[in-house]
Parts: sequence; structure tokens; C-alpha cells
Amino acid sequence: MNAKEVSHYPMDKLVKMSAQERQDYLNSRLRELVAYAHEKAPTMKARLDKAKINPSAVFGIKDLENLPILRKDDLVELYKANPPFGGLVTVAPQDLDRIYVSPGPIYDPHHQSETFWRRHTQLVAALGFRKGDIVVNTWSYHLVPAGHLIDEALRRSGATVVPMGVGNTELQVDVMHKLKATGFFGTTSFFMNIINKAEEAGLDIRKDLNLRVACIGGEMGGGPIRSMVEEKYGIATGDLYGTADVGLIAFDCKEKNGMHIAEDVIVEIINPETGKAVEPGETGEIIVTAIDEAYPLIRFGTGDLAGIISEPCPCGRIASRITRILGRVGDAVRTRGMFIHPRQLEPALAGFTELSKYQIVVTRPGHRDELTLKVELKSAEGIDKDALSPKLIKSANEGIRIKVDRVDYIAAGTLPEGHKLIIDERVY
Ligand SMILES: [Zn+2]
Repeated sequence: MNAKEVSHYPMDKLVKMSAQERQDYLNSRLRELVAYAHEKAPTMKARLDKAKINPSAVFGIKDLENLPILRKDDLVELYKANPPFGGLVTVAPQDLDRIYVSPGPIYDPHHQSETFWRRHTQLVAALGFRKGDIVVNTWSYHLVPAGHLIDEALRRSGATVVPMGVGNTELQVDVMHKLKATGFFGTTSFFMNIINKAEEAGLDIRKDLNLRVACIGGEMGGGPIRSMVEEKYGIATGDLYGTADVGLIAFDCKEKNGMHIAEDVIVEIINPETGKAVEPGETGEIIVTAIDEAYPLIRFGTGDLAGIISEPCPCGRIASRITRILGRVGDAVRTRGMFIHPRQLEPALAGFTELSKYQIVVTRPGHRDELTLKVELKSAEGIDKDALSPKLIKSANEGIRIKVDRVDYIAAGTLPEGHKLIIDERVY
């Protein structure tokens, strides 16, 4: 297949591919991308050459294991050293439709590859947006790509866009009401501001607004709010995961049990310390290689932690899923070969209402890491610690997937406000 044929591979065929066909397709796309980047993006060429990777010897993502991860900090340095585009963009500045300015500054190009737009149109279609929908887009339209990105994907799907951007909460309510908007894009917190404002103005969200779907993603911990929006207001919700640099990476389906990796995106989960792939089921850093000829960021390190879910999804999509984002690489503590993160512990202990505070402390008295779960009780009265401890250990073990050695009951007030949920006290 030549580049043109592959680029125009129809989406309906893509989603019907078997897992093996899909892997073969992604491998062939990766091979083309690496060759193209090597030819057109001087910085990618230098990185590949330095890692002694010959593009003609790349048959899959495993062949790129020696290519160092490209991180956000690297981007800032590369953009400084080699203006305007850090040697990473394959399109001349004057041939771009738009240029965004992200903190750094990083001059993100408006992506121009058809593959890139197909990926984003897929998200919009998965949410059910099509001709007939009027969608309020509250992502920012200046400096950063989010607003234009969602805007263009919606328009390509036939929907009508109201480019509202952030702010003007009262006006947002009025616009949604009068235009009978059927869809919303933005952050969960801003959506809730608008809903609250609408209720204050005496509107009944179910009756007076026409909202069918709200894509309120991109924030950690939004799950409970999305469930509430669905139950209380009868509005379907969607979550997504992406970055300003590579765009959409994954999105949830109706099952809401992990996010499917978007078409034309290759995700690796690696151990941030060794740079090697983690074992199946383990948590690690999300490394992304999106098939995007205009901005070929090969092995881009997101700094976000998640795991891969490889079991098939009941929704029928073949694409693997990633777990919800468990946090940033810097917040995790690595112990016994695994990363544990506060966001794994929180839901595991949420049901124990008798606890006021808790913390896992990792120590290393000999040659083995030991995990102590320190807990403060709301009241020690009537608590059978001998019965409670095994239950706490069982739940914590399930959450962090590592065995907790003991529970230590500490006096109320010992842990300060805003304490870390997992701390590393190992001395080597
Ligand atoms: Zn699914």
C-alpha cells in the first residue's frame, strides 16, 4: 500500500478490522510515518539517527524501543534551539492554516493531515453528533488548539457549531436555551457552572434545555459528576483523553469502563524509570505515537499514568482500552517493581466511612519494601480493629495491586491536612 491509499482507508473498514488486521495496519502506518519524519522533520531524523534506527528496519513499535521518549520539557528546549517549530513540523509556516501558542512557548501547528482529522471526527461520531445537531463548544479558541480542534471535527461531522469559548456563563445559558443546543463540549467544572446558573435562572434542565450529549472530559476525577449529570438531568456524557500536542488519544464508549485508544494512535505503557514496556496489567506512563504526517511526534511521553485493558469491550470496538488516568508520573511511588498512585488507593478505601484519614508508608527495613497502611479513625468507640484490619488490607491490595503488610492505627490529628496518600520513606 502506498501512503495515499493508506491515508484514505475508510473508517467503516477500519472499525470492522480484526485485532490482527488492525495491528498490521498500524504497523504499516508507523513504518510510513517514521520514514516520512526522517525525511521531513530534521529533529526526528537526528533523534532516529542518534538511536541508530534505520526507518527501513522499523516494522512495529517494538523496533523503536531504543528511541528516547520525547517529553514536554524536550519540546520546550527543541523549540528554543531550533525556531520556529523545533525541527518537528513537516509543513512550512506559511503553508499552515493556523499556528497555536502553547506555554513554553511551543508553536503547535494546526494539524493538516487527513488521518489526524479522521481520528477526531471518529470521536464526534462516537458521541452521536451529526447533521441536525447544534453544539456549543466552550473550549478556548485562542492560543491553544482545543477550541478549533473540536470545532473542525464537529463541522466535518455535519454538526452546527456555536463557538462560545470559555466564560460568559449567563450568555452560555441563554444561547443553549434559545438555540436549542443539543450538544456541549468543555470541561466538567465549567459545564456544572452553566447548569447551576441555568437552574438559578429558573430553568428546568430536562424540560427547558434540549441538551442530549455533553462531552465533559479531560479532567481527572470527573466520573462521579458525569454519572450525576446522566441520572439527574438525563444528558448522556462522554469523556476523552488527549493533549494539546497530539490531540485525541482515547475516548470512552457507552460501557464507560476504560477509554478506547483512538484510530491511528499507537499507545505504549512504559516504566518511566527503565523506558521499557510494563507487564500486561501493570501501570506505567502513557507514550503516544499518533499517525500525523504534519507533526510526527514519535514516542511522545505524556507524563500520565494508566494501564492497558486488553480484554474485549462489550461495545464491540476492537481497539484496546486504557484505564482511567491514575495521575502524573511524579506523584507515583514505585515499589516491588510496580507503580502505586494515590488515585488507586482513594476509590479502594472510599467505602470505609469509619476512617477520617489514611496514608500508605513505604519503608525498607531489610531487602524488601514494606507497606504500612496508617489510619486515623473518626472514633475508636465500638470499632473492632482485629476485624477491620483484614478488610482494609484486602481493599487496599485490590486497589494498588500490591500487598499491604500491616495496618497501623494512629491517633486522630497525627496526619496533617492535605497529607500525601502514599509516601516513600525508604533509605538505601
Ligand atoms: Zn467499548
